[in-house]
Amino acid sequence: MTALNERIHLAGFAPASRVNGPGLRVVLWVQGCDLACPGCFNAATHPPGGDAGTPPEDLVGRVLAARGPDTVGLTFSGGEPFQQARALAGLARRLRDEWPDASLMAFSGYRLDELRGAAAPPGAADLLSALDLLVDGRFEARRPGNRPWRGSRNQRLWVLGRPPQLELDDARGAAEIHVTPEGGVLLSGFPDARLRRLVTSLS
Ligand code: SF4
Repeated sequence: MTALNERIHLAGFAPASRVNGPGLRVVLWVQGCDLACPGCFNAATHPPGGDAGTPPEDLVGRVLAARGPDTVGLTFSGGEPFQQARALAGLARRLRDEWPDASLMAFSGYRLDELRGAAAPPGAADLLSALDLLVDGRFEARRPGNRPWRGSRNQRLWVLGRPPQLELDDARGAAEIHVTPEGGVLLSGFPDARLRRLVTSLS
């Protein structure tokens, strides 16, 4: 069941990104992932959130305030969004009330068949039903991706709801560095090894 009041453990928030799905998007990174893909460059997002979490209502307001005239939607990344699926499903449904044509997307380390299976994380079906786009599968560092939005070749892009209004941009090699209000540095997109080392040295 969708949890409208379950709090969300956040790792980061970007009001505008062009490397997390087609078009200009708000991005919400969640805290916590236990899938342990070797070579993951988001290790800081792996420990579970230790704070009280953020109420979904606050995040709806933050997303709507961040939205500009060219913003097409919201992307969930992480961390592992489906390890907070019930809370994110609540947020997605609440956001739809305020922004009906938003394109909602998620990156997940789980494969779609795992998310639809008997051992899926709680709330996975609710979150899937709220999404338009999903990139699925563990990151495999030895098989670098050669298609937009996929970090490794095993990962797949699924259109679960409305197809994107825009052509899928070619994001190969595209990356962004976001500086958080707290002064932290978030590397996002599909950085090469040299950029990953640079950002690691800054963190
Ligand atoms: S699922 Fe994503 S965040 Fe989790 S270990 Fe794999 S690449 Fe990293």
